[in-house]
Amino acid sequence: MPATTEELLELHGRIRACTVCPLHLTRTQAVPGYGPVSARIMAVGEAPGETEDREGKPFVGAAGRLLTQLLESVGLNRRDIYITNVLKCRPPGNRDPEQAEVDACSHFLDEQIAMLRPQVILLLGRHALARLLPGAGSITRLHGERVRRGDRVYVPLYHPAAALYNGSLMETLRDDMARVRRYLDEDELKVSLATGPAAFGSPPPSSPELARAGSAPTASPVASDGNQMDLFE
Ligand code: SF4
Repeated sequence: MPATTEELLELHGRIRACTVCPLHLTRTQAVPGYGPVSARIMAVGEAPGETEDREGKPFVGAAGRLLTQLLESVGLNRRDIYITNVLKCRPPGNRDPEQAEVDACSHFLDEQIAMLRPQVILLLGRHALARLLPGAGSITRLHGERVRRGDRVYVPLYHPAAALYNGSLMETLRDDMARVRRYLDEDELKVSLATGPAAFGSPPPSSPELARAGSAPTASPVASDGNQMDLFE
């Protein structure tokens, strides 16, 4: 049975109250995650940064704005996606997570995945890749690839922050996001054959004329539960 919004919020409350690892001493607040419990796509990053630590939401700084743009460029609405990190508290100075911190915190991510049961998980950066596909390979080799594990698809991607610091990765990240769209379209076809309605939103319009004619909407019709989202704000 799928989890309810109340169950997800209860988990968020436990994360906010967590003092298990030393990161609770330096955080402003924990950042559990953001998005509807009905999301079929999850995005997992590394850890909150300065803006996220201040606002209590994931991916709200510069990297978050880039992520939003990338998603929209392929017809995905960020509000349909559940976004979180491996670590729920900001490491001081945005340093890399330490293994002990990952070990202490990862059960929260496992619980989130178990609750949402997403069909697709976007792994944003090497830390998410290492945590959820251990031993699969490096981000350099696997970025943009589709990795199936059971009924779930994982797509490792460069972290948006990496593309902000290293402009040469930007084009790669855009190309990889276009591949994500193709993967979703292929899986959507399978889902629609089985269940009827579209699953992963619509691809972006192929031309401005199509967009003006309204024949290629860009917003996803699925999992857009405004009331549910309000619970996270
Ligand atoms: S990083 Fe995770 S384990 Fe450490 S205090 Fe924050 S929520 Fe708890």
